[in-house]
Amino acid sequence: MQELSHDLLILGSGLAGLRAALEAARQTKGKLDIAIISKTQLMRSHSVCAEGGTAAALRPEEGDSLELHAWDTVKGSDFLADQDVVERFAAAMPGEILQLEHWGIPWSRKPDGRIDQRPFGGHSFDRAVYAADKTGFFEMQALYDTLQKYGGVVRYDEYYVTSILIENNRFCGLTFWNLATGEFGVIRGKALIIATGGACRIYGFTTYSYTVTGDGMAMAYRAGLPLKDMEFVQFHPTGLVPSGILITEAARGEGGYLTNNRGERFMKEYAASKIELAPRDIVARSEMIEIEQGRGFAGPRGLDYVNLDLRHLGADRINERLPLIREVAIKFNDIDPITAPIPVRPAAHYSMGGIHVNIDGKTPAEGIWAAGEAACISLHGANRLGANSTAECLVWGGITGGEVVRYLQHERHLPALPADRVREEEQRVFAGFFRRKGKENLYTIRQELRDLMDNKAGVFRTARELQEAQEEIRELGQRLQEAGLTDQSRIYNTDLISAIELENMLDLAQTIVAGALTREESRGGHARRDFPERDDSNWLKHTLAYYTPQGPRLEYIPVAITMWQPVERKY
Ligand SMILES: Cc1cc2nc3c(=O)[nH]c(=O)nc-3n(C[C@H](O)[C@H](O)[C@H](O)COP(=O)(O)OP(=O)(O)OC[C@H]3O[C@@H](n4cnc5c(N)ncnc54)[C@H](O)[C@@H]3O)c2cc1C
Repeated sequence: MQELSHDLLILGSGLAGLRAALEAARQTKGKLDIAIISKTQLMRSHSVCAEGGTAAALRPEEGDSLELHAWDTVKGSDFLADQDVVERFAAAMPGEILQLEHWGIPWSRKPDGRIDQRPFGGHSFDRAVYAADKTGFFEMQALYDTLQKYGGVVRYDEYYVTSILIENNRFCGLTFWNLATGEFGVIRGKALIIATGGACRIYGFTTYSYTVTGDGMAMAYRAGLPLKDMEFVQFHPTGLVPSGILITEAARGEGGYLTNNRGERFMKEYAASKIELAPRDIVARSEMIEIEQGRGFAGPRGLDYVNLDLRHLGADRINERLPLIREVAIKFNDIDPITAPIPVRPAAHYSMGGIHVNIDGKTPAEGIWAAGEAACISLHGANRLGANSTAECLVWGGITGGEVVRYLQHERHLPALPADRVREEEQRVFAGFFRRKGKENLYTIRQELRDLMDNKAGVFRTARELQEAQEEIRELGQRLQEAGLTDQSRIYNTDLISAIELENMLDLAQTIVAGALTREESRGGHARRDFPERDDSNWLKHTLAYYTPQGPRLEYIPVAITMWQPVERKY
């Protein structure tokens, strides 16, 4: 067994992880001993896929303001966001954009040379700063390049972390499986920042990379940390049918229309002022209603769809502003958006929920912070606005990096390691899975999980379907115990990776469904057909889910309201 140790462990190398590493390295002038651990190659984190933009109020002279950005975010969240968090976020964002500019990112520009901004859903000002439709790729590149200036950072690429070790409510290490060598081991550390991203691969029709399976959330949950607001899953209105690949909201920001099978721009009926640029929850529900009422188009495997029409934008604008979208539509669907509309429908796109943290990104355990999509800092509440997520990764990557540096000034000792727990974990990961025998197939179980989440915990929900889902997820968990693994090796064993990920996803699916079943109201991304109204008197509160072997135990905590009392949400 390998034993490694570093002062600061950063679990995840997406935007949140890299921004945190950079902040900690910068504040300590490269003197801090930092490890960045990722189950993928560093630049294969899902963040490189971010397309449309990063939101910031940059132009007070033209009418935008920090307060307006904050208000749009609070209203978009259907009033479930913590307003102190939102204010801090909006105030920090202009600095993050300029910081990236100084770190060399090629932001798209206006003709006069200033940084350009495009419209995005739910924002009342053109606020999404972008680099063509490859914003995440360029942000990752700028952060990674800048990180090279500092010493002290060690990379552990393709190290699959299997558990977070907490003793007496204090962080002490991570167990890992080195995918390339097959070795198992532990990395000890004084502090941890969890930046493992979202969990939307629990769903079948999703915009997410195959690696986005919520491991960090599941490991934190099993280690005793609460997950917050897991029932709130964002469905993006324009997943390409049938692959689910994202067609960025910027396509509508640039002026694209959504049309039904009568050729009507149906969003006019649902959101008269914002039309296609209403927030995602509203557009996703509207599309589903059009499809359910027979105004969609028949798609493969039941994936009925509506059209996203960009033709009127013209070839020049599409080629300059949306080159990736055009490439994707041509390569995957043999459709050129310059001459034909693109088939789209709502796709699982973002986990509003995550590991419960306070406004500084700190979890309830000593020495552990979380940032980015893995965390739930309550910035997005019940529905995230587009372009606010990459932004959140930057702001709370920076904040948690700085917080940890301060913590480590006083915390000089590596916490003791519970030796037997590392051995037990190694047994669980290898012998535990390899010993399984039976007729079940792991990939069939995974497909069934994804189908049932799509069908029973999707855009619209009912008590009956959620109860069925709860029962079926439990059964899938039992069946997984009887799924033998064909590959019994330790090196790049993708069967074993899939089995561990599936176990993580089953635990998280339980928290999504339990939260959704209990929350008898409709708010943001959580739409109950049997409780269609928002109910502030009973449900203006955050859900916390705690792990128990029988399933999640739920508790509730209040929402922080500073400036804005909840009002009816209209667009
Ligand atoms: C297609 C697409 C387009 C998007 N476009 C935008 C946009 O335009 N604007 C916007 O604001 N947001 C956008 N988003 C959302 C945004 O990109 C993500 O929320 C954000 O990038 C998440 O970053 P992260 O750092 O939290 O996690 P990720 O980038 O997902 O990184 C997670 C890291 O954790 C590591 N990890 C996970 N589990 C383990 C494990 N068990 N062991 C070791 N390492 C592990 C992974 O290897 C990876 O390095 C988009 C999302 C998608 C999917």
